[in-house]
Amino acid sequence: MLFNLIVNINNFLIKKFVKNVNPNDIAILGPRCIQFNKCREAVVGGANECKLCGKCPIKDLMELKQECNLKDLFIVTGGSAARKFVKDAKIKLVIAIACERELALGILGVIPHKSYGIYLKKPNGPCLNTFIDKSEVKKALEGFIGR
Ligand code: SF4
Repeated sequence: MLFNLIVNINNFLIKKFVKNVNPNDIAILGPRCIQFNKCREAVVGGANECKLCGKCPIKDLMELKQECNLKDLFIVTGGSAARKFVKDAKIKLVIAIACERELALGILGVIPHKSYGIYLKKPNGPCLNTFIDKSEVKKALEGFIGR
C-alpha cells in the first residue's frame, strides 16, 4: 500500500510538471522477467539482440522505442542496475516498468532524476513471464513527448 502511494504521488507530480520532452531524452526501463523464460537472447542491457518473435512484450517495447524515436529501451536484472542506469544515462525522463516495491524504491533512489512508474502485470505470479501492455506505455509516453 505504501509502495503504491509513493508511485502514485510521484506519477501525479511528474505528469503535472514534466511536459514537452524530446523523445530522444526518454528511455524505457524494464525488468528481465518480462522476457519469455525460454528465450535465450541476450536482452539485458539495450535489448538489441531481441529477435522480435512476439513471445514476450520486449518486441512491443522495441517497436515503441522505434515508433516514438526514444533514446533507449534498457532491460535490467534488478533494482541496483536500474538505479545505476538512471543515474548514468543522459536522459530527462525514465518510464520505468516494475512491480510496486521496485518502482517505489527505484523512484526514491534516483531522485532528483525524473521517473514515471508503470505497474508490471504478473499473470504467472512474481518474476515469471510478466507482462506489460504496449498501449499503456504508449499512452504514458504521449503525455510527455513534445509535439
Ligand atoms: S520478443 Fe522473442 S526474441 Fe525478443 S526477448 Fe521476447 S521471446 Fe526473446
